[in-house]
Amino acid sequence: MKVLVAIKRVIDYNVKVRVKADNSDVDLANVKMAMNPFCEIAVEEAVRLKEAGTASEVVVVSIGSKACEEQVRAALALGADRGIRIDTEDGPDSLSVAKLLAKVVEQEQPGLIILGKQAIDSDSNQTGQMLAALVGCGQGTFASEVKVDGDTVAVTREIDGGLQTVSLNLPAVVTTDLRLNEPRYAKLPDIMKAKRKPLAVQTPDELGVSVGSKLSLVKVELPSERQAGIKVGSVDELIDKLRNEAKVI
Ligand code: AMP
Repeated sequence: MKVLVAIKRVIDYNVKVRVKADNSDVDLANVKMAMNPFCEIAVEEAVRLKEAGTASEVVVVSIGSKACEEQVRAALALGADRGIRIDTEDGPDSLSVAKLLAKVVEQEQPGLIILGKQAIDSDSNQTGQMLAALVGCGQGTFASEVKVDGDTVAVTREIDGGLQTVSLNLPAVVTTDLRLNEPRYAKLPDIMKAKRKPLAVQTPDELGVSVGSKLSLVKVELPSERQAGIKVGSVDELIDKLRNEAKVI
């Protein structure tokens, strides 16, 4: 079984996000970029399936500018076999990404397609769902456990108030939640080996997809600053402040 994993290049989660002076977008000038953390979990899961003998090949795909190849190489160093980059401007919307991924699925015929549950830059949480609809297959989103058994996969999903397990026929789309696994770090020899692994570049035209966006970004703002807290000397003082200053009781 072939596993296809979609990975997105995003701002590193350790970086404090800055907004451009005109509020038109997040400022990405000289900012450290990385693989979306949920995509790292997706790569790890695919590599574990290969190590367990369940998967025969792990193919990673990223959609964006040449800079994304850094994240594709990172996934190859973690154990993926082959990479694909679809060459677009950065920031295509989720529907365009899903349409492009659907074409890659048609081309590669994977048994399992793993995505992150959401990208930490746009926080959309919709690409996997759209992809499953376009491909016409089942979806197991927010996965905290994935067990492939023959032609089906059991996906345990983190839902409000508990866990839900669904059984899906393969091929299926799975999106990863935080507790699915703990991704490994790449070892230096694997980083060197990854440089020689195949990485193909395709264009949306070659895949017959026109990339556009039905969304326009209106404004980006930082959350308002939290006011510093104060220490009160007694319960009476607390009640007085809540009643007369904050006016919440
Ligand atoms: P989103 O729906 O944008 O929150 O993204 C969910 C998941 O879709 C990500 O974790 C990736 O697995 C995949 N994805 C989104 N955008 C891209 C992209 N440009 N290239 C590859 N995969 C992507």
